[in-house]
Amino acid sequence: MSAPSKTLTLRQVFSSGGLLSRWHPAYEFRPGQLEMAEAVEEAIAHKRHLIVEAGTGTGKTLAYLVPAILSGKRIIISTGTKNLQEQLFFKDIPFLKQHLGEIRVCYMKGRSNYLCRQKLYEAEREPILSGLEEVSDFQIIREWEKTTQTGDRGEIRTLPDTSTAWGKLDARRELCSGQKCPQFERCFVTQMHQRAHESDIIIVNHHLFFADLAVKEDDFGGIIPEYAAVIFDEAHEIEDIAGQYFGISVSSYQVQDLERDIASLARRKNLGSSEMDTALATLRDRWERFFSAFGQQEGRSGFDAHEAFREKHHEEYQDALLTMEIVRLQLELLRDGEDEAAPLARRAGEIGARLKLWMDGGDRRYVYWIERRARGVFLQATPIDVSQLLEQRLFETIDSAVLTSATLAVAGSFDFVSSRLGMRNARSLMVHSHFDYPSQALLYVPQHLPDPRGLAYTQQAAREIARILEASQGRAFVLCTSFQQMRLLHDAVSFEIPYPVLLQGTGPKQALLEEFRETPNCVLFATSSFWQGVDVQGEQLSCVIIDKLPFAVPSDPVVNARVEMIRQEGGNPFYDYQIPQAAIALKQGFGRLIRSKLDRGVLALLDNRITRQRYGQVFFDSLPEYGFTTKFEDVERFFARGDL
Ligand code: SF4
Repeated sequence: MSAPSKTLTLRQVFSSGGLLSRWHPAYEFRPGQLEMAEAVEEAIAHKRHLIVEAGTGTGKTLAYLVPAILSGKRIIISTGTKNLQEQLFFKDIPFLKQHLGEIRVCYMKGRSNYLCRQKLYEAEREPILSGLEEVSDFQIIREWEKTTQTGDRGEIRTLPDTSTAWGKLDARRELCSGQKCPQFERCFVTQMHQRAHESDIIIVNHHLFFADLAVKEDDFGGIIPEYAAVIFDEAHEIEDIAGQYFGISVSSYQVQDLERDIASLARRKNLGSSEMDTALATLRDRWERFFSAFGQQEGRSGFDAHEAFREKHHEEYQDALLTMEIVRLQLELLRDGEDEAAPLARRAGEIGARLKLWMDGGDRRYVYWIERRARGVFLQATPIDVSQLLEQRLFETIDSAVLTSATLAVAGSFDFVSSRLGMRNARSLMVHSHFDYPSQALLYVPQHLPDPRGLAYTQQAAREIARILEASQGRAFVLCTSFQQMRLLHDAVSFEIPYPVLLQGTGPKQALLEEFRETPNCVLFATSSFWQGVDVQGEQLSCVIIDKLPFAVPSDPVVNARVEMIRQEGGNPFYDYQIPQAAIALKQGFGRLIRSKLDRGVLALLDNRITRQRYGQVFFDSLPEYGFTTKFEDVERFFARGDL
């Protein structure tokens, strides 16, 4: 099949009666889609940056894919999740290939998604598996390895997300001996890189993109080949993800994983020695002592007492560094005879170096914080403001970046997101959804509830939720702004209603969503992870209830540092940061309801600050034109009407 014709114009593809309407009988001409496609084409051709908010249902995926393909240049498409990557690669691209001709395209995921052939073959000879479950998962993986072209675990639908056998066989960089590996030519990661070098369109996710950008800066060389432009879908997630990769992280899990991998190498290759055993036991002991010096408090908290800590816990700190260095030197001694020891030695060196950087704590551009979660301790440093980093490393370095999402603008302006991301001189475009929001969705804000910050709120909100669910006959998401609030509301409401109830955290996200779709009249209680990237079409989801305006809480150390920085620079953090950020989040949350032209439903916001405070107008100006009411009778009438 031949390559797409460069002479094809976007009008020929998208216009009324154009190619798309011939290829797809249900295709509907949307002027906004054509406008967006032309803006993307112009940005790539003239090496400019572009920011586009494209409401749900505008067809934004094709609006960026088609001009990217027709440009004839190498374009990176970066998505928010692996699911979206797969949707593009397995659904949208084949459709376009069918009609446009051959497209050289591939996807890239992080290395832990791919199988390491060398580890698999070694596992057949060495006893690394424990328990029947691991043995059974191993059989599945071994059979699949014989036929898979990609080595991407996403292909094995029967492998549980939590498979510990996979964790022992994946292609993480830390355990890879690279070109010295006997499987290097046949390696799935090598082949992924080769495919990327031969492709015009490369589909990645934001995590891989920013991990690559951060590594490129460190001069280790990135993995994504040179490209002419990058298009970020779900671009509202960029700030937080970039922050993770430009930060510093040292965790108890990193130390445990290192220790486990060294022990496994020693076992497999018969390299065990009493010196190594002693060094690993001491490493474990000293790092446990070091991490316990940070206290036992669960959750995230800021940390700025580096000097006092270094003085008080000098011995624990030095012991941690020293034991890591001893292990590194022992691995260095092994590396001449054993290739796999080299990446482990490098990893030990990196953990020690990162700890020194974190303990130094002197860089005012970072916020230093600690998180204790389950049994893990995480020492983190996050850039308070990623705008300069992104400006220098991304927007000033590449010719063209396109940012798109259904939620980027605040009250019709892109100033907030542009300044948070350091994207200057970009053209902007707003493409409105062509859904009929005033008749499809009713926004209900009850006025009788107390201030959501007060003690009386939860009980009354629970009563209101039960009343709304009665009217909607379940079929609802109750989206909460905190785990604590989610549990309280769930406990108060679930026994009051005659509908099946699901609670976030009681199963994997996709499994819960599947159950929600298949269970009539189901109600799901969830928090932020269900506010985005969740798509339930049809009457199964007829109501979205949100407890509070989703302001980022200053008790979070990263939010607190951002708020403080704005204050120090003379700004007003509430108006300059918290309100715009919450307006985007609210738009995301409510965006779960109307996913097609046939969807109808009620959005309930149990926080009447939106109608009582002056800043509430910013939220109204940012949301689509939903119908609006403060009266419960209107909600009942809405549900009684139509075929809900
Ligand atoms: S090159 Fe690395 S990832 Fe690939 S098979 Fe060999 S050890 Fe595994």
